[in-house]
Amino acid sequence: MSFLEIKALTKRFNDVTAVDDFSLTVERGEFVSLLGPSGCGKTTTLQMIAGFERPSSGSIILNGRNLSDVPARKRGLGIVFQTYALFPHMTVEQNVAFGLEMRGISDTDRRAKVASALDLVQLSHLAKRFPKAMSGGQRQRVALARALVIEPELLLLDEPLSNLDAKLREEMQLELRRIQQEAGVTTVLVTHDQSEAMALSDRIAVMQHGQLMQVGTPFDTYEKPRSSFISTFLGKTNCLKARLLSSNEQGSVLDVNGVQIKGPSVKFMPGQVEVSLRPERIDIVDAPDSDLPAKVLERIFLGDQWLFRLETTLGDLLVVRRNRGRREAEPGETIHLSWTPEHFQILPVNREDSA
Ligand code: ATP
Repeated sequence: MSFLEIKALTKRFNDVTAVDDFSLTVERGEFVSLLGPSGCGKTTTLQMIAGFERPSSGSIILNGRNLSDVPARKRGLGIVFQTYALFPHMTVEQNVAFGLEMRGISDTDRRAKVASALDLVQLSHLAKRFPKAMSGGQRQRVALARALVIEPELLLLDEPLSNLDAKLREEMQLELRRIQQEAGVTTVLVTHDQSEAMALSDRIAVMQHGQLMQVGTPFDTYEKPRSSFISTFLGKTNCLKARLLSSNEQGSVLDVNGVQIKGPSVKFMPGQVEVSLRPERIDIVDAPDSDLPAKVLERIFLGDQWLFRLETTLGDLLVVRRNRGRREAEPGETIHLSWTPEHFQILPVNREDSA
């Protein structure tokens, strides 16, 4: 049995099905992110785990205990929300100690636990400060310490970094992962930010319309998306409509916009498909033989890499190229592309697009 078992969880608000037959298991110590666009049901799922929303049906079992009839305050979970306000009239250590006081922990134990939680989030030197005299990142560390000090069985995080600016956010991502691993606490994070989910998680659960679409390690989900929705949600990609003409053990043949190209071997029946090709999997090559010519439409410098938008006979393609400190092709120039057929992902037609 897994540490956290979510089984066929469903939540309806009148005629809206916010969470639809959602099942997921999380192992002890694992960090799992619920990732998806706004309104896909991530927060509602987390709220049901926390006990703030009652499921319409389904069950949540934590460490063998069915939480259905356990009120939120008795679930013993650590929770950090985007705007989980600290008590402004209390110092950092008083904020962190609050949950322990409520649980009637003795003075000596409390002091020791608060000290070790503040040490974990590296805020021991600010123990006597009030929240208003702290930065956003520091306040979120206090919120984390407050959630962790009760030694929760499960840590729930709802967009905890989204109020921070981009640079601090990146730093806090590393920090959050370190803290989670040091504390060894099983964690479920809600985020709409794919790079955050990838940086932090052992596994990502991608949601759409209240349903779980795919769950896997960040690498597997990125490399083997099950649909064009997941492929486009997890970073940049080129999604092209195509017709699968044939496939055998050696590979497949696709018709993309009237051009025949080779693809990987797939088990699909011939017919309409979508193909996804990541921009970093397309090479810009010098030798023009056998390759696809492309006209540069746009070129954007991103520091560590260049992003090109190219016109080709397959359709417009995005290509990224590592910045090697050399001159790169400019808009209007023609370049040549090449790729390995295995890098094409052949996906079922997105039903929403074709509807
Ligand atoms: P976001 O990233 O924008 O927070 P989310 O993925 O967390 O989105 P939810 O907040 O879980 O999505 O909402 C899922 C759906 O349920 C949405 O259509 C939302 O409008 C609806 N919903 C959420 N809470 C309620 C409520 N209390 N009453 C009615 N509808 C609700």
